[in-house]
Amino acid sequence: MNKPYTYGKQCIDEVDVEAVAAALRSDWLTQGPAVESFEKSLSEKLGSTAAAAVSNGTAALHLTALASGWSEGDVVLTTPITFLATANCVLYTGATPDFVDINQKTYTLDVDKLEEKIKYYEEKGKRIRAVIGVDYAGRPCEWKELRFLADKYEFQLINDACHALGASYEKDIRYQAKYADAVILSFHPVKHITTGEGGAALTNNIEFDEKLKALRSHGVTRNRKNLERWEGPWWYEMHEIGFNYRITDFQCILGMNQLKKLDRFVEKRRRIARYYDNVFGNDERFITPDPGGNASHAYHIYPLQIRFETISITKKELFQKLRSKEIFCQVHYIPMHFQPYYRKTYGYRPGDFPIAETFYSREISIPMHPQLESGDLEYIVETVKKLVK
Ligand SMILES: *Cc1c(COP(=O)(O)O)cnc(C)c1O
Repeated sequence: MNKPYTYGKQCIDEVDVEAVAAALRSDWLTQGPAVESFEKSLSEKLGSTAAAAVSNGTAALHLTALASGWSEGDVVLTTPITFLATANCVLYTGATPDFVDINQKTYTLDVDKLEEKIKYYEEKGKRIRAVIGVDYAGRPCEWKELRFLADKYEFQLINDACHALGASYEKDIRYQAKYADAVILSFHPVKHITTGEGGAALTNNIEFDEKLKALRSHGVTRNRKNLERWEGPWWYEMHEIGFNYRITDFQCILGMNQLKKLDRFVEKRRRIARYYDNVFGNDERFITPDPGGNASHAYHIYPLQIRFETISITKKELFQKLRSKEIFCQVHYIPMHFQPYYRKTYGYRPGDFPIAETFYSREISIPMHPQLESGDLEYIVETVKKLVK
């Protein structure tokens, strides 16, 4: 492919283009049959009882928080190494987010520290309402252990799986809805499959799904069993306040086409990761991500750590030099507790989550998407290795 190389990129082919064009010529632009078909395909692929497709992953998080009934006084725990939306959805409901440091090896929520934090809250007489695990970069959290804690301490378990479509855990691609009470997906162009903007919430709880689907469209219900009365075919009722978080039909057509290619996309990402693992893995300037243990990484991103403390180039200089070579990396993520809003509202300080902070200081996400070929990878690796000294 041609430069520039970005850390992530969508993969759209002519079949996608034709399918969307055909959808645009059909009777339905939004709220047509494709939404339900896409939801069905997602459920089948990922083994959930139900799926609700919505306008983006953040909307799926928001609706999940609302449908779960979180409110003021509730505490929801998550990782500091995630996208803003994971914790912001807690704020939308008036509940309080708090963080648990990551595990040095997996870069996901540290299960032991999670239990410590739960106990710390319990000593203050407070039960944790929910935990949002994030399958960071595409590497599944320790879901068995998380499920065990969820049952032991009776909290709701959410999987923000926006990085992890196509990942598997104990050889099972359907682990997400198996262990978590709700699963969040995003179809933003840098994710594994895209609908432009788009997202979904998956669950095995039908009632939860119904609630979520009402909330995505103004809180309106037409389902006879939920109505107070019925005055005629035009009748609908609003029992709760919802939003317009709907996705369009032509986006869902694109989503269905993309989903058919998911396995191929993930396969390619894994091949790229093996290449990076090999070339960076035995070089002590770098730390490569753990390939997954009992899980199979889906490599939404490739988080390479560089031991800047042992070399003279700084992270800022490296970024600038890579840019001049048309390699556009990114950092995933600035720890949540560094964000001014969180710092000022909750009084977080540097040092609160030390593993996350060291990880942040070393991490760069180097290009990872299915369009990269061996020549591209060689150029990227050679350029990075030459600059890192
Ligand atoms: C992408 C992403 C989201 C939500 O993304 P949208 O852009 O709203 O679709 C949420 N959490 C994580 C971890 C993400 O990477």
